[in-house]
Amino acid sequence: MRGMAENPSPPFFVSTFSKLPESLFRAAEPKRVASPKAILLNNVLAAKIGISAQWLHSTEALHALVGNQALPEVPRIAMAYAGHQFGNFVPSLGDGRAVLLGEINGFDLHLKGSGRTAFSRGGDGRATLSAMLREYIMSEAMAALDIPTTRSLAVIGTGEGVPRERMERGAVLTRVAKSHVRVGTFQYLAARGEEATMQALVDHELAKNFPDAPEGAGRFIWFLRQVIARQATLIAKWMCVGFIHGVMNTDNMQVAGETIDYGPCAFMDAFDPQKTFSSIDHTGRYAWDKQPVIALWNLTRLAEALLPLFASETNAAITLAEAELKNFMLHFETAFEAGMAAKLGFAEIREGDADFIALTLQNMANSKADFTTFFSTLTEAVKLDNDKKIVHFFNNANAATQWLESWRKRLSSLSLNRMKTANPNFIPRNHRVEEALAAANIDDLKPLHRLLKVLSKPFEKHEGDEELALPPKPDEEVLQTFCGT
Ligand code: AMP
Ligand code: MG
Repeated sequence: MRGMAENPSPPFFVSTFSKLPESLFRAAEPKRVASPKAILLNNVLAAKIGISAQWLHSTEALHALVGNQALPEVPRIAMAYAGHQFGNFVPSLGDGRAVLLGEINGFDLHLKGSGRTAFSRGGDGRATLSAMLREYIMSEAMAALDIPTTRSLAVIGTGEGVPRERMERGAVLTRVAKSHVRVGTFQYLAARGEEATMQALVDHELAKNFPDAPEGAGRFIWFLRQVIARQATLIAKWMCVGFIHGVMNTDNMQVAGETIDYGPCAFMDAFDPQKTFSSIDHTGRYAWDKQPVIALWNLTRLAEALLPLFASETNAAITLAEAELKNFMLHFETAFEAGMAAKLGFAEIREGDADFIALTLQNMANSKADFTTFFSTLTEAVKLDNDKKIVHFFNNANAATQWLESWRKRLSSLSLNRMKTANPNFIPRNHRVEEALAAANIDDLKPLHRLLKVLSKPFEKHEGDEELALPPKPDEEVLQTFCGT
């Protein structure tokens, strides 16, 4: 406890969500666990949201963040939502193993794995230590890559077993997010015909996360426009680092534009545009290159839910919604092109860049180039003026020479700075994540901390940790990720 007071005064939490109409949540009363133990505490994030390290390390925080006790003055609630899961509509999902603990300075504190709620259906409400540590690693890596994301404040071991395929250790994750309102939250209200509540929810979200929102009836279509724009940029950012979300169900798409719900997600090693990892994605629905199409599909479900707010006459509402939805692909393509151009070192977008990006990706797919090291090596090649370094990323010398010639010609307007901040050296590679989780499960946290350290500064070099940047050897490759609940 670093010589600190046992129970320093807690930060000031509020609960704005519980003031909304009651159909949006149920009271939650997590079951006490006997021996909570802090496994990871994120001091840097705590400082960012206005929580002192002293409180984070206190006994009170330990019990609050494992679900044993409520925070002073704020009710714990499980949020209601619906969702299209792999295309099938489920009208009532909700937080089956999570509770909204409270809000601080505009950030939600949400516990995941804290026990059964009114929405639990068949589940036990619990989460495994591996799955929660995995979410911690992935979300913190995304944040350091400058990609909008929910974050992880703490992982607290419950000291209890969680029965899965085998007995696993249980843990509770404290997720920090700008919002836990999802596309599925609006679908839940639409399915129940609760228009007034839907309006209140939009207004809540606008006040919390959309500072430029206009007033008046036009704010609803404006809201859709902003959500579309944020998702388009988000998906482009994912794709520029080779990230595959894995379960882009409408209940896993947050309207404030942060990546949410790290289940069987993964970063690609060898480039394959059709890549999936999730053991439950049998049809490739959520593959790397399908993500924009799926995002648009989800946003169309959001627009459908919001229709009654756009105009009283349905056809007029549809016309308004369609005019917004048709902008998604353009937004996405612009953001993706800008991101890829930065990776290639181009100071600005020029005519023909889209074709060159497509050609680059085609070459990478042909040779199954490692997505991350291709671009980090390219950055090195520019710095050292040594193109030889990247020849082996191509299928043959001819393909390499041709590509290098066009690239060098186009590089007349180089921005090395843009390149350096677009091409990370370190991503959470699956084999390294698995290695860290396996060690953590036998109480060795060293690999986990080492991995978190390099991932917190992914664009830097980390002397002595270079091996964490390397792609897996054939026998180290992880082929599937599991929902790992
Ligand atoms: P997810 O796959 O994490 O997005 O969860 C989909 C739905 O299943 C949500 O309603 C979750 O709350 C619920 N769920 C997932 N795991 C559990 C569990 N162990 N117990 C109860 N509900 C769960
Ligand atoms: Mg979910």
